[in-house]
Amino acid sequence: VSHTDAVSSVRLDHTPTIPLHEACRIVMAACVAAQPSAVLLRNALSHVAADDVRSSVVVPPFNNSEMDGFAVVAEDCASSSTRLKVVTSIMAGEAATTELQSGQAARIMTGAPIPPGATAVCPVERTELDGDTLVLEGVVQPGDHVRLAGDDISPGDVVVRSGSSLGPIQIALLESIGCSEVLTYPPPRVGVLATGDELMGAGEAGIRDSNSSMLLAALALEQFPTVDLGIVGDDAGEIIRRLGEATERCDAVITTGGVSVGDRDVVRLTIDRLPTVTRQWMRVAIKPAKPFMFALLDAAPRTVPLFGLPGNPVSALVSFELFARPALRRMAGRRFLWRPLTAGIATEDFRRRLDGKTHFVTAVARMSKDQTVEIRPCGRQGSHRLSSLGTANALAVLPDGSGVATGGRVSVFLLDADALFTGDPLEPLGFDVPISDLIPGCE
Ligand code: AMP
Ligand code: MG
Repeated sequence: VSHTDAVSSVRLDHTPTIPLHEACRIVMAACVAAQPSAVLLRNALSHVAADDVRSSVVVPPFNNSEMDGFAVVAEDCASSSTRLKVVTSIMAGEAATTELQSGQAARIMTGAPIPPGATAVCPVERTELDGDTLVLEGVVQPGDHVRLAGDDISPGDVVVRSGSSLGPIQIALLESIGCSEVLTYPPPRVGVLATGDELMGAGEAGIRDSNSSMLLAALALEQFPTVDLGIVGDDAGEIIRRLGEATERCDAVITTGGVSVGDRDVVRLTIDRLPTVTRQWMRVAIKPAKPFMFALLDAAPRTVPLFGLPGNPVSALVSFELFARPALRRMAGRRFLWRPLTAGIATEDFRRRLDGKTHFVTAVARMSKDQTVEIRPCGRQGSHRLSSLGTANALAVLPDGSGVATGGRVSVFLLDADALFTGDPLEPLGFDVPISDLIPGCE
């Protein structure tokens, strides 16, 4: 198989253009979560729990003090200025063995066990010491500042629900009940293959393969294991061979380049020579990233989704965001697949013409002081202009039409929600000093 083979298979194409939601439906229907398996908790970040996790233990495991202070018998302290004798002190991590008698107090630290006989803790702020005599201010009720065993988690409580993504908090909850292994959907191992004779490393010419770096990094942010499948020229036989190998090592493959209607768009032209369960080359009614190849490669007993993204960097990113990332997240069992879609006020015109397509425009979205989202387009647009993504934190979604004028409402996918908040992020919390006064050097 050679270049010529690929070229000779070019044929007239009457593939209809389909709306974005239809393309998404095709991809999503084919990408489903794998069988759950057990994973060590320390490797489970961003995995999705495949089952409810119930506690078999009591948290906290014993009654302990909520404050630094003195453990007392509350009944001794029903009136103000009670005087008690301090008989012992209990630090966190120590055992409390001596039983407290009426008239006695035990110095106690936060988290230390309440000694037998004690029924409350009086905070140190409300006490004075006169030798080993403790003088209490105010009255103490039974149970004051005592954290009871099981106050947080009881046996049988579900600490993590099936379907939850395991973030730091869920991992802490699982750790707190002594769960060292958890049943999750394995995140897909994703291979990334760059195609194109023009890429440095493939042919003579010298376009650097920025797509692979971008996609491998984006997948790493998702906590998906990745395989860098390297660069391949527009050579049908080589592409078939590499994709065949990839199905053995990967649960999904992303290619860039070669899916357009050019004579050398070899990913598109060779897909029918691969064993596939389903394959579909699409023209999607979007700009950029109109051409898209989706296939389920047959690697019996498994199938391996192939996402054939266009080569231009902005197109590759848009196509990744709309199809590959949500589908891979679905394979990982995640519930929230697409980036958060929000809307705000255009602070500059978003110009476009009627052309039957939904446009995606690199944009900057910022939360203003009055908490409205303000959105402006980002630099010169163009599917090859990676620099227009450089300062963007959002993709504006412009439905077919004449665009959105300044002051109008525009929708965006937030690529980086943290970057919505800049300037004086503490202002909503009631701080009236600028952040630069709090943190020198921070604007
Ligand atoms: P294609 O989709 O194959 O027609 O590629 C379109 C254009 O995208 C090419 O002319 C390259 O300039 C660019 N391109 C393709 N692959 C890559 C890549 N891996 N990294 C950066 N740019 C690329
Ligand atoms: Mg190409």
